[in-house]
Amino acid sequence: MQKRIALFGSTGSIGTQALAVIEANPQLFTAEILTAQQNDELLIKQALQFQPNTVVIGDESRYQKVKQALAGTDIKVFAGEKALEEVAALDCYDLMLAGIVGFAGLKPTLQAVEQGKPVALANKETLVVAGDIVMQKAIEKRVPIIPVDSEHSAIFQCLVGENLNPIDKIILTASGGPFLGKKPNFLVNVKRDHALQHPNWSMGAKITIDSATLMNKGLEMIEAKWLFNLKPEQVQVMVHPQSIIHSMVQFEDGSIKAQMGLPDMKLPIQYAMAFPQRIVNQFPRYDFRKPNTLTFEEPDVKTFRNLALATEALYKGGNLPCILNAANEIAVYAFLRNRVGFLDMTDVIERTMNKLEFIAEPTLEQYFETDAAAREFAATLIHL
Ligand code: NAD
Ligand code: MG
Repeated sequence: MQKRIALFGSTGSIGTQALAVIEANPQLFTAEILTAQQNDELLIKQALQFQPNTVVIGDESRYQKVKQALAGTDIKVFAGEKALEEVAALDCYDLMLAGIVGFAGLKPTLQAVEQGKPVALANKETLVVAGDIVMQKAIEKRVPIIPVDSEHSAIFQCLVGENLNPIDKIILTASGGPFLGKKPNFLVNVKRDHALQHPNWSMGAKITIDSATLMNKGLEMIEAKWLFNLKPEQVQVMVHPQSIIHSMVQFEDGSIKAQMGLPDMKLPIQYAMAFPQRIVNQFPRYDFRKPNTLTFEEPDVKTFRNLALATEALYKGGNLPCILNAANEIAVYAFLRNRVGFLDMTDVIERTMNKLEFIAEPTLEQYFETDAAAREFAATLIHL
């Protein structure tokens, strides 16, 4: 029996790579739901190729175009934010691949969990914002949340077969991004196009900027805490510029397991989709015979202060990660439009974290309120 996949964010970097995995393995998977925010052209093309049950275009002004293009097919077409959540409640799929970027991914993902659907999770912001509520719901509904993020997939793979053996700590590896080793006097002049060049991974714009500021690693620390039920002090970050070790787990006997391979997101994507199976592929392999050195160093949190802010949010918890995330989304949005400088992003986040009221144990409603208030305040700082 094929696994029926609901691909939320099908036009993005994760989404298109997931479709490549589905295309290469038609005996294992079908695409039943495809969603996109703006890119109607690609959504239409994907729908005609994969013949899903349903598509959603987030931007309602593009509904007619998609509807008309798919008129001769059985594919159902919906539009708007609410439709994303409604479609996540449909019965036509077995696994959600959560590949929407940012806070927008939270509601549909939570809806899938609510419906008892397993989730392959790329959308890390979902756990950063409301990890307690999402994981609690997943446990209650006995829904597996399988990480797609390469570091978390690595840790997940290291834990297979360990049953209840406690984790001593995890070591999250970071490439360091394009500005590894640079100091503030350099970073102050960094522009959008420069920051969009990542040395090892080709990804969507938001996560590429997050990788350049190290906010991505900060978000991943919080993501790891929720996925693997860790205390903040059990999460360590090490810069590993070659991105060959995707992360490690140290157990209580001091033994360390690492998961390795060439950096290619299709690997963690297909692992999450096929788990517990592994799928044969012809992707290039890492070759130990070639000259290569794997190096490790501590992150420079004095220069890359976003990582320090995220660490603070990890330790304090409550709605602080939600505030951090919302301010970061606004700051990155503004940076991508050349409205703020590279280092200004950190100031926006820090000032928003200091301004908003701390709530130790927020309800879901309070997370939504916090997100909205943090966005509004961060936007006033930038005069958006
Ligand atoms: P992307 O920008 O390439 O794609 C985002 C997708 O989400 C697109 O399909 C877009 O249409 C949709 N989308 C954007 N805004 C939306 C909104 N407001 N409502 C509904 N849909 C919306 O992003 P990406 O790089 O594919 O990343 C997706 C998620 O996966 C992010 O959370 C990112 O952190 C995570 N992730 C990505 C990678 C990677 O290699 N790209 C690696 C690890 C984790
Ligand atoms: Mg990652």
